[in-house]
This record gives sequence, C-alpha cells and structure tokens, in this order.
Amino acid sequence: MRLPERISILGSTGSIGCSTLDLLEKAGFGGAIEVLAAGRNVDRLIEQARRWRPALAVTADEGTLPRLREGLAGTGVEAAAGEAALVEAALRPVDWVMSAIVGAAGLPPTWAAAGTGAVIALANKESLVCCGPALMHRAEEHGGRVLPVDSEHSAILQVFEVRNAAQVACVTLTASGGPFRDWSAARIARATPQEAVAHPNWSMGAKISVDSATLMNKGLETIEAAYLFGLRPDQLDVVIHPQSVIHSLVRYADGSSLAQLGPPDMRTPIAVALAWPDRTAWPAPALDLTTCGPLTFEAPDLTRFPALRLAREALAAGGEAPAVLNGANEAAVRAFLDRRIGFSDIAAVVEEVLEGMGHGQSHQGAGNGVLEGVMAADRRARRGAQDVIERRANAA
Ligand code: NAD
Ligand code: MG
Repeated sequence: MRLPERISILGSTGSIGCSTLDLLEKAGFGGAIEVLAAGRNVDRLIEQARRWRPALAVTADEGTLPRLREGLAGTGVEAAAGEAALVEAALRPVDWVMSAIVGAAGLPPTWAAAGTGAVIALANKESLVCCGPALMHRAEEHGGRVLPVDSEHSAILQVFEVRNAAQVACVTLTASGGPFRDWSAARIARATPQEAVAHPNWSMGAKISVDSATLMNKGLETIEAAYLFGLRPDQLDVVIHPQSVIHSLVRYADGSSLAQLGPPDMRTPIAVALAWPDRTAWPAPALDLTTCGPLTFEAPDLTRFPALRLAREALAAGGEAPAVLNGANEAAVRAFLDRRIGFSDIAAVVEEVLEGMGHGQSHQGAGNGVLEGVMAADRRARRGAQDVIERRANAA
C-alpha cells in the first residue's frame, strides 16, 4: 500500500474533512500535512492544527485571523486568512488534495490545486457541476487527476473497468431518497429545516443534507457523473435505494452489470481516493450481508422531487446552465435554512432562475478565463435567486 506523502485538506473542519483526518489517523498516515483550511470554525481548525502540525492553517474568514494566530502560538504552524490566502494555500505543491469545502466557494481553491499536478480527491461536487469539463482537463493537462469522493462516483470508478464510454449502456446512481421519501407533497411543502437535515443514513453538512431531501443532490451527482466519466445524459439513470448499501452500478453493452457495495461510511470512498488504484488498509466497518437486507429499489418521483428533473434539464442544456442551477440552489437552500422560504420553494426558485437566465456559452479551454466566466455566472444566478426569494418571502 502506498499512501501519498504530502497532502492538503481544504474544508478540514466539515463532515468530510473530519472523516478524512480520522481515516488518516486509523490508516497510520506517516506523511506530512501541508495545509488545513476551513471556513469559520476556527476553534476546530486550531484543535486539528495542534494535533496534525500542518505547515499552514487557513481560514476563509479574515476576521478570525487574530484568534487563529493566538491559538497556534508556539506551534510553528503558519496562519493565514481570506479567500486569496485560501487559493495560495491550494497552490502549494503536494501529492494529494482533499477538496471538501462546501459549495461554489470551493471552486477557486480546487481550480488552483488542479493546476499543480496533484491528485484531487473531490468531495466538493459543486466545482464539477460548475465547470466539470474544464476542471477535468486542467487536472490532466498538469499531470494530475480528479478522483471522486462522492460515494456513488467512487462506486462507478471502482466498477468502471472499461474506460470506453461507448461500451457502457447505463450508469445507475443510487439515492437513499432522503428523509421525505414517503411523505405526501402537502407534507413535504411544510417541511422544516430541522426535518430536512435529519438524514436517515448519512451524517453530513447542512447544505448537502437539504440537497438530499430535495433530491437536488442526486441531480448534482448526475451532472458530476457525466463530467467525471464522459457520459451522455441518456446513459445516466437514478434509482431510489433506501438502505444505501449498493452505491451505484454500471451496465455494460453486453448486459452485464457491476455494482459496488459497502456500509454507509464516507471514510471508505475517501480511502479509495487516497490510494487509488491501490487500496488503503484501515480498520474499516465491514458490510454484513446477513443483517443489511432486505435491499429495495424504486423509481424516483419527479413530481414530488422536481429538483432532479431541473438538474437533468440543466445538464442537457449545457453551457452555463449547470453553474446557474448550482448558484440558484445554494442561495435557495440558504434562504430555506434561514426560514425565509418553504421547502418546496427551493426547486421553484431554481426553476425560475434557470428559465429567466438563458444558458450562456460554455467556456472553452482550461485557462483562468473559464474560472472567471463560471464565477460570474454563479454570481448572476445568486442575484437572480435573491430577487425570486424576496418576492416569495414577501408573498408568504
Ligand atoms: P460541511 O458543511 O460539514 O463542511 C464544509 C467545510 O467547508 C467546512 O470545513 C467549512 O468550514 C468549509 N467552508 C464553508 N464555507 C467555506 C468558504 N466560503 N471558504 C472556505 N471554507 C469554507 O460539509 P460536508 O458535508 O463536509 O460537505 C463538503 C463537500 O463534500 C460538499 O460539497 C458536499 O456536497 C460533499 N459531500 C459530502 C458528503 C458527506 O457525507 N458529508 C458526501 C458526499 C459529498
Ligand atoms: Mg453522494
């Protein structure tokens, strides 16, 4: 087993970031951590930096720098803050970068890291949704690679033996269905933030938990899979599988389907990305087939969960549509968590923004112009969403 020697973790204080550090601990990681970076949770960042002694600890929020400096005094760990510092940190040469910031905020540092030739372990699916083809191209052009951390895409990576998309008949992403899987449309419309973040199988950050409840998460993952594996929209399918044991499957042209199974624990897909194509040895929870069943499957209901349909439409439209979908969704989820709009308004806001904005051109190449174009589309989508949110909040 060969693990990378020098690594950075962007979004170290979140659910994926903490799982990554826990896995490194349990796998006996003996290498060095270059960067630990986070948003606002400075106390946890200090705690992590004191334990792991990275060369640099960064917070995105400049107001927290004095506290970070004070917390790291005497450790020799350098402290920095702000968005530019985050991008500079991501440019530091390492073998492996965990990209686990939530939302489009993770795109600039992930883009920077993709230009260094490092392997990018990508949990931050919003980056790929916003500019997938360019990000993949950029990583490869610089001698690196994007490896998925999302459990479904990790599954596909593992069963994707033939890297010829033409031999793939269909890739099926499994979805737990979220906490509202069997709720009526009327009950879903009244769902509270507390109910939406209570995911049945996975413990995750608030934003992805809401995305799982609307099924937007599976929509974002459909786009993510298209870009990661070079698949057409008609080669991608979603099935609801409430037990989250089969993480995804690939059906080949000859009728053979390969699936990947595992307990719902993100440390396993992180371990896959850490040593790929080798395997990371760690005391992993094992799947027990005699106790995990029965396994059930059903088709997603696009009437109760329109976000999945919207994401598929944005993928088919191409251009800036996926970035607009993502930006509008982030703004709408924030407004829902702040109790300014209802749960069903999330997809309605996204739909209205997509309809009103056109789809723009797709940005060519892998230079920094692409990043600027995508970030501008993201800002436009958020502004458009704010207008719709105001209107809906005032009408309520
Ligand atoms: P989280 O909210 O628990 O953590 C987010 C991390 O990003 C934190 O470290 C936070 O400090 C940091 N952050 C937030 N805003 C920032 C900003 N503006 N600048 C810099 N850092 C910022 O989220 P999570 O559940 O760990 O998810 C992280 C990413 O991984 C998301 O893109 C999510 O979709 C993806 N993902 C998560 C899971 C999971 O099980 N949690 C599974 C698959 C994919
Ligand atoms: Mg997933």
